Amino acid sequence: MTTLEILNPATEQVVSSVDQTGVEGTDEAICRALAAGEKWRAVAPADRGRLLRAFAEAVDGAVEELAQLEVANSGHTITNARWEAGNVRDVLHYYAAGPERMFGRQIPVADGIDITFREPLGVVGVVVPWNFPMPIAGWGFAPALAAGNTVILKPAELTPLTALRLAELALQAGLPEGVFQVVPGKGSLVGQRLVDHPDVDKLVFTGSTAVGRAVMAGCAARVKPVTLELGGKSANVVFADADLEQAAATAPYGVFDNAGQDCCARSRILVQRSAYERFMGLLEPAVMGVVVGDPAEEKTEMGPLISAGQRDAVASYVPDDAPVAFRGGMPDGPGYWYPPTVLAPVSAQDRAVQEEIFGPVVVVLPFDDEDDAVRIANDSDYGLSGSIWTSDLGRALRVSRGIRAGNLSVNSHSSVRHQTPFGGYKQSGLGRELGPDALHPFTEVKNVFISTGG
Ligand code: NAD
Repeated sequence: MTTLEILNPATEQVVSSVDQTGVEGTDEAICRALAAGEKWRAVAPADRGRLLRAFAEAVDGAVEELAQLEVANSGHTITNARWEAGNVRDVLHYYAAGPERMFGRQIPVADGIDITFREPLGVVGVVVPWNFPMPIAGWGFAPALAAGNTVILKPAELTPLTALRLAELALQAGLPEGVFQVVPGKGSLVGQRLVDHPDVDKLVFTGSTAVGRAVMAGCAARVKPVTLELGGKSANVVFADADLEQAAATAPYGVFDNAGQDCCARSRILVQRSAYERFMGLLEPAVMGVVVGDPAEEKTEMGPLISAGQRDAVASYVPDDAPVAFRGGMPDGPGYWYPPTVLAPVSAQDRAVQEEIFGPVVVVLPFDDEDDAVRIANDSDYGLSGSIWTSDLGRALRVSRGIRAGNLSVNSHSSVRHQTPFGGYKQSGLGRELGPDALHPFTEVKNVFISTGG
């Protein structure tokens, strides 16, 4: 078995070594998941709910430990990492109510009674990226388990540590062996095997659009259901009638949170031309004020990028002649640091405007009126999230309805609440996670007609 050294991106020091699962190990995990499925489906709904609540409580007891692990493995700020571990707990609690609410329907028909059942699919593969290892995993495994499926989670190569700890906590909480397994390993081997294996009944994939497309094609070969959460290039639309101080003060956090490695990053700021100069004047001190440094420190607002490779990829969007309007600071010494960077003026065709950078680089573009704002916001292959800043409620609603994206917020930058659906339009994905309906994509609907004879 090969092992992979896991590095701390803030120090470049080795944190741990992780045994890598290969294709054979993945097949064994699938066998265990199949066998465990029979037992898991036989657990009475209220007991399944109780076990998921026990899992949530175990996560709650380990929030600080999980958060510290994420700081060391992913360079997330400690404040974010605590939220992320808490989110896994909350999502488990929310879907723990699911098993007792897997309602079917009774449908009026002639000559009998017609009823529907929601049945689990079987084995669900959950493949996640490195940018939010804990929450994204939880959005897949919690509803999948609640719906009666067994789950195999494949963390990203660079960030397996919290996923492995979550698997231990699940066992400790009483989930039967094989119900929730974590298989660290390469996407091209383990991930691909989950896509190809005939006994994996559904794939939940979060990651880049390029890999997502290949995963979808692989699933198509077996007509395997797939949920895709992919990239983004979201717009933060600031109208002249907005609270400009507040819009400018929060804009850096809407894009530089998690060092910009966020699929919902508002990486295009669109500003109404009449307010452009004033907004830029307010944005500069806000960007300079972002506290970049040791992610373990409470006051830190932005940590390093995940890897040297990611830093090189981000830097390629800011060549020497790039129009850098202003740029924040970063620590010296080891670590994969990149400073918060604002590019303006930029042409609409610039790579930095069109492509997902996945780092702390934001472009600012002016617009004339509402129609122009919606047009520019929609000028992207992506459609994941976005923000609208205005004091006019009618405009907020018109623009929200005009932007083709799955998660919009007005006068705020929030995209994620476990109670509400999350997912993308266009090449940002397929299907929705979270919210009240998240169990449905983990079930088949069975229709049974019972003749009343006569
Ligand atoms: P990635 O696509 O390179 O990898 C994602 C996961 O897929 C990893 O676990 C990887 O090992 C695995 N993988 C790679 N090849 C595979 C294959 N052939 N078959 C199956 N699995 C395979 O993405 P990344 O670089 O880890 O993450 C960054 C991307 O994720 C960004 O584009 C970001 O926007 C996206 N993302 C989207 C959301 C969302 O909810 N929409 C959330 C977070 C991140």
